[in-house]
Amino acid sequence: MATFFKEDLEENSKEITLSQEESRHCVKVLRFSNGDKISLINGKGFIFQGELLNNDLKKLKIRIDQSQYFNKEQSYRIHIAIAPTKNMDRIEWFVEKATEIGIDKISFIKTRHSERKHLKTTRIHNIIQSALKQSGNLYLPEITELIEFKNFVEMVTEEERFIAYVPENPNNSLIKKSSKKKTYCILVGPEGGFSEEEVALAQVQGFDPVSLGKTRLRTETAGLYACSILNIINQI
Ligand code: SAM
Repeated sequence: MATFFKEDLEENSKEITLSQEESRHCVKVLRFSNGDKISLINGKGFIFQGELLNNDLKKLKIRIDQSQYFNKEQSYRIHIAIAPTKNMDRIEWFVEKATEIGIDKISFIKTRHSERKHLKTTRIHNIIQSALKQSGNLYLPEITELIEFKNFVEMVTEEERFIAYVPENPNNSLIKKSSKKKTYCILVGPEGGFSEEEVALAQVQGFDPVSLGKTRLRTETAGLYACSILNIINQI
């Protein structure tokens, strides 16, 4: 059954109207019509079953017949803070794949060597919603606007904090340094890497420099690798 995303859907919602984009997609592309059944998610753990009440291309009305809540039941929490790449496609790729694999929060950080000093997150929110529908994951990751590195590291509260740093000893790997069932925050730098001052500043705030292996990964690959490692550590 086709799944739609509607963030403001609540447990007791009775009738809703889809956005113009979703209405059009449902009627024109998927060829759904009055009386057909669809499912919807709100990114907060609910799945809803509904029925189309009209064929309106702009304001498709849905009657909600059932709702079911799925508890997250996750003993760990992954937060990746990443310097967005100059090429938006690459950071969007990271966001999409990390959402599919499982991530709780993505922060965008502005660092000394960042090539991208501004970031519009509207498209990123849309990509996350699509990845959520596609993957069957029911929880929408939290996204933050671009924030200065110094301000960011000063306010992090996760239990295990890491900074992925290329000159770090390959034996000091994230795999060895992280333990199960924790809340994690890992910093991933821009193509030019973190400056030594940034690494020192992060260390003062409790971030442990870690290696992501012997090879130098692109920013988006490093983010996805870190996300995968932390998920794997918690699933074995
Ligand atoms: N020339 C940069 C340097 O030496 O730091 C390379 C930066 S790399 C393309 C982009 C970011 O990915 C780095 O700042 C780091 O956070 C992360 N990264 C990539 N490969 C890594 C590795 N093998 N170990 C740790 N971090 C890595």
